Amino acid sequence: MSAADSLSENSLDARSPTPSTDVDEYGAQEYGLATIGVRAGQSRSPEGEHNDPIFTTSSFVFESAAQAKSRFVDDAEGNVYSRFTNPTVRTFEERLAALEGGRHGTGTASGMAAILSVGLTTLKAGDHVVASSSLFGSTVTLLKKTFARFGVTTTFVPLSDLEAWRNAITPNTRLLYAETPSNPLCELCDIEALSELAKSSGALLAIDNCFCTPVLQRPLEFGADIVIHSATKFLDGQGRCVGGAIVHNSDELKDELVGFMRSAGPAMSPFNAWVFLKGLETLKIRMREHCASTQTLAEWLVLHPAVAKVHYPGLLDHPQHDLAVKQQSGFGGVLSFEVKGSRDDAWTVVDNTKIISITANLDRKSVV
Ligand SMILES: *Cc1c(COP(=O)(O)O)cnc(C)c1O
Repeated sequence: MSAADSLSENSLDARSPTPSTDVDEYGAQEYGLATIGVRAGQSRSPEGEHNDPIFTTSSFVFESAAQAKSRFVDDAEGNVYSRFTNPTVRTFEERLAALEGGRHGTGTASGMAAILSVGLTTLKAGDHVVASSSLFGSTVTLLKKTFARFGVTTTFVPLSDLEAWRNAITPNTRLLYAETPSNPLCELCDIEALSELAKSSGALLAIDNCFCTPVLQRPLEFGADIVIHSATKFLDGQGRCVGGAIVHNSDELKDELVGFMRSAGPAMSPFNAWVFLKGLETLKIRMREHCASTQTLAEWLVLHPAVAKVHYPGLLDHPQHDLAVKQQSGFGGVLSFEVKGSRDDAWTVVDNTKIISITANLDRKSVV
């Protein structure tokens, strides 16, 4: 029996039922992820459209000066300007939050804008971050260069080494930051163990869930405080738009993010939000297909005489296969492998692939 068979079809839904969410009725646990991905967050306009509309408007009209004042100054409900809120972006935020089992979502201009926004709303000068050393390259640069300039220091630790995380914590540590599984070696961290560590040290745990998506892993259910996405990757899944998102359960962080988006402005465009909404509608079936074809490819590569090593959590000899079974409901759409020989030999393989694109994105036809 292959490892893929050990996960039943149904278990490709996230493992546990959705916890309470006030996002909307579709976040409730009687709906499956496929339904939530199509329906959550939709609010029809008086036109009664079936599909989600795109609100391509930069500002919104007020009925009176008094209404303008109450929305601008008193934070009354209602749209003002698309840097603050936009109905299409809000639908995306609510749908993704419902998929992650979270109460609040914020769409951002890119995945990096999401990470920047989390840093700037949760950290201040003098604070310390413990981060995995296996992070997306721009995230490392952001922590090492940009945040450091503002007095936030970071210690990088091996992703799967819980003792190293524990030892790196200082009295000033306010944020633990990880991607799991990592790119490209597909290492994992135990989200539940890291969340306990974060709680006992007064820090928040943020997980970049880009590789799994909520279809395969819902970090909030294992105690993570913040989930981050590059919507550019599997959420779109078709290589069309750049965007990002933040999902969490904290009313306090929600207020911080609303204020931050309004004054700093890394907002998602309504057109991109609409494209991502269409991506979310097919996310579950795409992720299921990604898992199946990546497992087949991994098992084929293992037997290939020119391949030295395959990194994929769905292989039984992956060092953290059991952890993947515990916290993921599928092994994901990304693998990496090492070919025997030199770097030139590896590049020869890359240059001779057919159909596959050599590109910097994750979707069903990329090699990076
Ligand atoms: C691509 C990526 C990001 C950055 O997202 P952008 O949308 O490109 O800004 C962050 N984290 C991971 C894991 C990524 O793969």
